[in-house]
Amino acid sequence: MLSEPRARGVARVLIDEPTLQGRIGELAAELDAEYGSDAPLMVGVLNGAVAFMTDLMRAMTIPLEIDFMAVSSYGASTRSSGVVRILKDLSRDIEGRRVLVVEDIVDSGLTLQYLLDVLQRRNPADVAVVALLKKDKADAVPVRVDRVGFPIPDEFVVGYGLDYAGRYRNLPYVAVLDPAAIGEG
Ligand code: 5GP
Repeated sequence: MLSEPRARGVARVLIDEPTLQGRIGELAAELDAEYGSDAPLMVGVLNGAVAFMTDLMRAMTIPLEIDFMAVSSYGASTRSSGVVRILKDLSRDIEGRRVLVVEDIVDSGLTLQYLLDVLQRRNPADVAVVALLKKDKADAVPVRVDRVGFPIPDEFVVGYGLDYAGRYRNLPYVAVLDPAAIGEG
């Protein structure tokens, strides 16, 4: 059974810390083998991918660089608006580079679809995607996700970088909130 202390408002731990870290180690080994000495540019999508990005890059042993983009999120709502805006762009040119987009979660796929369009237009050598979580959703847009940490059911999750109204990002596990905590109970 799960033994972590639960944060206030957390109904259920979906993915505990050892399980997260174990899977990240596997992904890192695959990415090391894939990129070798090509020094990929890992592009973390702020703010949600911060926890995953920092653990993933430290589990990788190849030479690599990092940068970040920020796109508009759902705000305090738990539903996707489908509206995406770049709030912070990359600080370098990616032409000819191998780019690895590091995402926290793919839900409708709209954010990722938009990001990939933007990045492809800048003529990178290639762009691949690693997402920690991917929701099992029939109506998601078909978008490229090369590696997924964990497929999850279509539920709103928090923790390990993911927020509800700005909170819960610091939880070391992925959890489902008590509906009462998000005003839907
Ligand atoms: P999409 O555009 O694929 O619908 O959503 C992508 C973004 O929405 C993610 O990067 C994340 O910021 C946010 N998001 C989607 N599902 C969830 C969720 O279950 N919990 C949280 N906290 N954010 C989510």
